[in-house]
Amino acid sequence: MSAVPLRNNKASATAVRGISVLGATGSIGDSTMDLLRASPERYRVESLTANTNVAGLAKLAKEFNARFAAVADASLLGELRSALAGTGIACGAGESAIIEAAERPADWLMAAVSGAAGLKPALAAVDRGTTIALANKECLVCAGDFFMQRAAKAGACILPADSEHNALFQALGSGNREELTRVIITASGGPFRTWAAADIEQATLAQALKHPNWSMGQKITIDSASMMNKGLEVIEASYLFALSPDEIDVLVHPQSIVHGMVEFTDRSVMAQLGSPDMRTPIAHCLGWPDRIVGPAAKLDLAKIGQLTFEAPDYDRFPGLKLAYDALRTGDGATTVYNAANEIAVAAFIAQKIRFGAIARLVEATMNAFVRGGNLAPLSSADDALAVDYNARKIAATLLPQIALKAS
Ligand code: NAD
Ligand code: MG
Repeated sequence: MSAVPLRNNKASATAVRGISVLGATGSIGDSTMDLLRASPERYRVESLTANTNVAGLAKLAKEFNARFAAVADASLLGELRSALAGTGIACGAGESAIIEAAERPADWLMAAVSGAAGLKPALAAVDRGTTIALANKECLVCAGDFFMQRAAKAGACILPADSEHNALFQALGSGNREELTRVIITASGGPFRTWAAADIEQATLAQALKHPNWSMGQKITIDSASMMNKGLEVIEASYLFALSPDEIDVLVHPQSIVHGMVEFTDRSVMAQLGSPDMRTPIAHCLGWPDRIVGPAAKLDLAKIGQLTFEAPDYDRFPGLKLAYDALRTGDGATTVYNAANEIAVAAFIAQKIRFGAIARLVEATMNAFVRGGNLAPLSSADDALAVDYNARKIAATLLPQIALKAS
């Protein structure tokens, strides 16, 4: 049984629902809280979490009268306690508190921690067999098939919150698995879509953070500029919907209006469109199996005028090709791809490597990992986390030589 539900599983619910948001202070967290704010009578907030932003977390916890608030940095417990003093809101700090937040009884949980750090908390929610809106693609890429198998076993319902995957989820209902020939996820192309390779190589942090269409957290914005984000999303689509790499295409679409398409055997292609606003896919997940009112701008195609499409350029954006390689290699290679990318992005932010070196570090780490004979099927979260740990170590070791090497 798949953990991503089928449309014909539809069964409407009207009761007040318990909601938890992991990564409440981030960009996806912000969009989610915005939707909850619009209909306070429908939702009761159970848990909210943040990494280090105590003030932001406490503000949200008070506004929504959350039952529990947790901050990942254990040293911030005292600060969080005093910020919540007199409110009756329980709180905790450290990794175990984030896991407790995921374990507490909620009918719907948004998994929006950034990076592989979101894996353990997401699995804690999976094991409760609850409904999870999954924004945190890195945890899926890190844990591979294992994550979805565990979700299916626990009876958890995984709703794709990433805009492209949410689009596929909506379009997939038009046919069955045997009738599907391929899916297409779109990519804006990011700020360097038209740049020459030599200019991309030298791009600065400020340039990488200027996304043309979407307002997002720092890490995913850099991933969009390198198209590593699309690579992560190809892998995410493969695991979410049990698709082979050959069944997943990427199409560059600078306007970010068509988010994803599904092609069926009769050559019908079903697409989902909308303004580039994450509150739309999140609203779809929050309303599921019904539809709720979304706050995004109404799509005005006449005003937009033209929707254009182009093939991705794997030479200027090698990170995208590496994602297909990792997927074909299997056995933890996607975990390595993600871990190396997280190290590379952190190094780029710290100005230790050039922008062009991000993909080079990922490639070198993948090669070293395969050469070392380290690949093996992942059968537990610990397996995935061990590969993640080793890959980070290899990437950190390779970093100085990659930093020195020009393209
Ligand atoms: P963000 O950086 O804005 O927010 C991340 C959230 O996670 C924050 O609340 C932060 O406090 C928390 N966090 C970070 N590190 C943590 C750690 N080690 N332990 C516990 N909590 C931690 O990121 P975002 O843009 O909201 O993205 C969140 C996830 O959603 C990412 O996986 C991203 O790829 C995915 N996503 C984001 C968007 C978007 O539009 N922002 C779209 C699709 C998918
Ligand atoms: Mg996306």
